[in-house]
Amino acid sequence: MTARYQNYVSGEWTDSETNETFESTDPAAPAEVVAEYPDSSVADANAAVEAAAEAQDDWADTPAPERGAILREAASILADRKAELTELLTREEGKTHAEAGGEVQRAVDIFYYYAEKTRDLGGSVKSASGPRTNLYTVDEPVGVVSLVTPWNYPIAIPAWKLAPALATGNTVAMKPAKVAPGVAVELFEALDEAGLPEGVANVVTGPGSTVGDALVTHEDVDAVSFTGSGKVGHMVYDSATDDGKRVQTELGGKNPTVVSDSADVEEAAEIVAAGAFGVTGQACTACSRAIVHTDVYDEFVDAVVAEAESIEIGPGDEYDMGPQVTESELEGTLDYIGIAEDEGATLETGGGQPDGERFGDGYYVEPTVFSDVENDFRIAQEEVFGPVLAVIEVEDFEDGLETANDVDYGLSASIVTDDHTEAERFVDEVEAGVAKINAKTTGLELHVPFGGFKQSSSETWREQGDAGIDFYTIEKTVYDS
Ligand code: NAD
Repeated sequence: MTARYQNYVSGEWTDSETNETFESTDPAAPAEVVAEYPDSSVADANAAVEAAAEAQDDWADTPAPERGAILREAASILADRKAELTELLTREEGKTHAEAGGEVQRAVDIFYYYAEKTRDLGGSVKSASGPRTNLYTVDEPVGVVSLVTPWNYPIAIPAWKLAPALATGNTVAMKPAKVAPGVAVELFEALDEAGLPEGVANVVTGPGSTVGDALVTHEDVDAVSFTGSGKVGHMVYDSATDDGKRVQTELGGKNPTVVSDSADVEEAAEIVAAGAFGVTGQACTACSRAIVHTDVYDEFVDAVVAEAESIEIGPGDEYDMGPQVTESELEGTLDYIGIAEDEGATLETGGGQPDGERFGDGYYVEPTVFSDVENDFRIAQEEVFGPVLAVIEVEDFEDGLETANDVDYGLSASIVTDDHTEAERFVDEVEAGVAKINAKTTGLELHVPFGGFKQSSSETWREQGDAGIDFYTIEKTVYDS
C-alpha cells in the first residue's frame, strides 16, 4: 500500500497549494511505489518560513526544560515506531535493515541527547572589575533556521539539525531530499504528537531548485544548515552569506585509509572494506581510497578483494549490502567504473551489476576494487558515492600522508598502523575534520563535533554535540551593576 504524506506548516498537515504530488519508489524493486508527497512550490516554502517567524518569539521564551520535555516525548514516540521507521527507510533508501535500524536508533538518541542538553543551556558567569556587578553571558537562539538535507542518512541528518535547533529555541523550516523523504517527515509527526506548538517546526517536500532555494534565501531566515553535494552547497553558501545569514554547509568527501607496512593486513582489509562498502558506499565519510605501503600492497589487494567478494548483496534483512538509491546514482557509479578502466586502473573485482533473480530491476552494483590507481586519476579525486574502492600504492609513510592530503576534500581519514609515531603524525598532519587510528572512516559518536576541511565543509561551523548548540545560538554579554 502507498503511504500518503503531507507538508506540516503552522501545526497543520496540508497538501501543496499546487495540489501536485510526487512518488518515492523502492530501489530494490523500482516498480513499487512506497509513498506519495506534496510537490511543493515556492509559495509553500514561504508559508513554512513565515509560520516559523510567527512562532519564534514564543518558542524562544519557552523555558528550555519545557522545550526539552517535548523533544524527550518525541524521542520516545520515535523509539516506539522504530520497526516501522526502519522498514520505511529500507524501502525508500535501500539500506539493509541492520543499517536502517541503526540509523533510526541514532535519530532517537539524538533527540534524547538534546532533550537532556536543555537542562544545561545558558551562558557563563565572568569576573567583573566593578563592585556589586554581575557580569555574565547568555546564549540566545539565532531565530528562524532553514534546514536542507540529503537522502543518504534520511533520518539521522534531519534529526541532528532539528533537535539542537529546537532545543536552543529556534524555529525551523525544513526540506528533505525528494528521494527518501518519508522518515524525515515522520520526525515532524512525532513532534506534533509530542505537543510541539504550532509553527515551531515546519516541513515541506519538493524540488531543491525551487523549494530549497526559497527556504535558504527567504529574508526572514537567520541561519541555514545545509548538507548535500558540493555543487549545490557552494551555491547555497554564497547566496545565503551574501544575505548576511549564518550558514553551515556539510558536503562531500574522498576519504582515505592509509595502510602502513606495520599493519595487520587482514585487519586493514576488514577496516577498509567496512568503510568502503557499508551503506553501499553512499556515505559522505565512505572510504574510497586505500593508500597502501608498497611492502604490503599485493597482500592487501588480495585481502580486500576477498572481503569484497564475501559481501552478499540483496534486499532487506538477509543480506550485507543493499542497492544504490536511484537509477541515476547507479549510472553515476557505473560511469566512474568505466572512467577508471579507461584511465588504466586494474579492475580486481566487481565492476558491474550482479546477475540473479533476487536482484530484479533493483539498482544493485557489485562491491568494486581497482588497483594500480594513481592519485591523479578521477577515481582517486572525485566523489563516486557508490561501493567503489581505489587502491593506491605508496613508497612509505611520507608518501602515504602526502597522497592522503592531495585531494580537494577533507572530511574523514584513517590510518591502520602498529607504529605509534606514525599514528601521531597522521593525526597532526592529515587534512580532515575526523582523523581515526585503526578504525574505518565511517561512523562517529553523536556527541563529538563533525565537519570537514577544504571543500568538505564550511569550516567555520561544526555539527553534533556542543557544536550543534553553538551553531544555533548567539552569545550576549550582560553587565548588571
Ligand atoms: P544534493 O546536493 O543533490 O541535495 C541536497 C539537498 O539540497 C536536497 O534536499 C536537494 O533537494 C536540495 N537542493 C538542491 N538544489 C538546491 C538549491 N538550488 N537550493 C537549495 N537546496 C537545493 O545532495 P544529495 O544527492 O541529496 O546527497 C548526497 C551528497 O551529500 C554527497 O555529496 C554527500 O557526500 C553529501 N553528504 C555530506 C554529509 C556531510 O555531513 N558532510 C553527509 C551526508 C551527505
